[in-house]
Amino acid sequence: MADHHADLFISGGGIAGQVTASAFAAAGFSVVLVDPFVPVTTAGDEKSDLRSTAFLQPARGLFDRIGLWDVLAPHAKPLDQLAVIDTVGWPPEIRDRRVFQASDMSNDPFGWNLMNWVVRREIWAYLQDQPRITALYGVGFKSIVNRSEEIIVTLDNGDRVRARMGIAADGKFSPLREAVGITVSTTRYGQKSLAFTVTHDQPHDNISTEVYNEGGPFTIVPLPDINERNASAIVWMNQGPRAVELMNMPVPDFEEVMYQRSTGLLGRMHLEGNRSLWPIITQTADQLAAGRVAVVAEAAHALPPIGAQGLNTSLNDVITLLDLAGAQPGNLGSPAMMRAYEKARGTDIARRAKVIDLFNRVTRSGDGVLQAVRLMGLKAVHDVAPMRKSVMRAGLGPR
Ligand SMILES: Cc1cc2nc3c(=O)[nH]c(=O)nc-3n(C[C@H](O)[C@H](O)[C@H](O)COP(=O)(O)OP(=O)(O)OC[C@H]3O[C@@H](n4cnc5c(N)ncnc54)[C@H](O)[C@@H]3O)c2cc1C
Repeated sequence: MADHHADLFISGGGIAGQVTASAFAAAGFSVVLVDPFVPVTTAGDEKSDLRSTAFLQPARGLFDRIGLWDVLAPHAKPLDQLAVIDTVGWPPEIRDRRVFQASDMSNDPFGWNLMNWVVRREIWAYLQDQPRITALYGVGFKSIVNRSEEIIVTLDNGDRVRARMGIAADGKFSPLREAVGITVSTTRYGQKSLAFTVTHDQPHDNISTEVYNEGGPFTIVPLPDINERNASAIVWMNQGPRAVELMNMPVPDFEEVMYQRSTGLLGRMHLEGNRSLWPIITQTADQLAAGRVAVVAEAAHALPPIGAQGLNTSLNDVITLLDLAGAQPGNLGSPAMMRAYEKARGTDIARRAKVIDLFNRVTRSGDGVLQAVRLMGLKAVHDVAPMRKSVMRAGLGPR
C-alpha cells in the first residue's frame, strides 16, 4: 500500500482522462491518474477501441497548447470537406447531396481524424515521460472522502491518494461520479452503432461523408492509408436488432450491404479487422461538480455519434477547467472554481445534447413527413450562406 499526494486526482485513463492529465501537468500541476485497464494499443485485439475521432479546431488548439499535437499529427488525416447525402428506400435512392467547405470558415480543415486506439497508444507513451504525472494503469478508483479542503481517495489495490481536486473521467458509468452522489438523466433510442475500418477502391479526397437513410447516418471519415490502400473509419447507426444482424453477418454479405448503403460512393469497401457495436444514448449528469470533484467527458455527457460532437465536447470541458485552474492556481478545486465550471459548461452541454437528440430523432425516422423535413432542413442549412456558416461554426464548438 502506498500514499500518493498530488494537486489533481483523475479517475479514468480513456482519451479524456489522458488529455486532462497532460493538460494539467503542462500547466504545472502534479497529477495522479488511475484506470483499472491497461490501454489496448493494437487494432487486432478484441478490446481495441475501433472508433475514430474527428478532432475539431478547438481540440487541435488544446493539443498545440499542451504539446500533444506533435505526437498525434503523424497519425491524423485532415477533413477539408463535409458532404451530406440524403437517401430514401432500399437500395438507397439519392434525393440530394450538399457539400460544406472548411474554406468557407478559415484556412484550416474542419478537423483531423485519428483512430481512438492510436490516440490512446500515443498519449499513453507520452504520459510515461511526464515527471508531474503518476499514471497507474491496472488500478481503479474505489472510494472517496470529499472534504472541504482536500479529497482522500482509496484505490482498489489499497493505495491512497490525497489531492486538492478530483476529476471524474471514468466514462458513462463513472464510479467517481456515483461516489460523490451525482445522478444522471438518460434517454434511450433503441439504436446501436457499428464502428469499424474499411479500405476502399476510390480515394476519399479528405471528404467526410454522412449518408442519411432510415435508422440513422452512415458516416465515412477519412483515415491515413492502410498498407497503401485508401482507408476510412465508418460509423453506421441502425435500430438495435438490425445493428446486431449486421454485426454478425458473414463478411462478404456485410460488404455487399455496406456497398449499397454507402451508395457506392467510394467503390467497393473491404472490412479491415473487427466490427464493434455501441449502444446509442443521450445521458447528461444532473450536476457537473460535487464538493471538490468535477465530472468531464462521458462521465458528464454521452451523446449519439453525430457531427463529431462527443469527445470534442469533452475536450471543451477540459479547456474550461484548465483555464479556471490556470487563472487562480491556488483555488484549484475550490467551491468558486466548481461553480464557475458549472456555469461555463452547463448551458453548452445541455444545448448540444438537445440539438443532437432532436437531429437524431428526425434523421433516423422512416416517417415520410420527417424525411421531407430532413431534406428541407439540409437544403436550407446549406443554401442560405449565413445559416450555413452559423451551423458550421456551432458544430465546431466554442472558441
Ligand atoms: C460509434 C461512436 C463514434 C464516435 N465518434 C466520435 C467522433 O468522431 N468524434 C467525437 O468527438 N466523439 C465521438 N464519439 C464519442 C467518443 O468516442 C467518446 O466520447 C469517447 O471515446 C469517450 O471517452 P472518455 O475518455 O470520456 O470515456 P472512456 O473511453 O469510456 O474512458 C473511461 C475510462 O474510465 C475507466 N474506468 C472505469 N472504471 C474505473 C474506475 N473504477 N477507476 C478508474 N477508471 C475507471 C475505463 O477503464 C476507461 O478507460 C463516438 C462515440 C461512438 C459510440
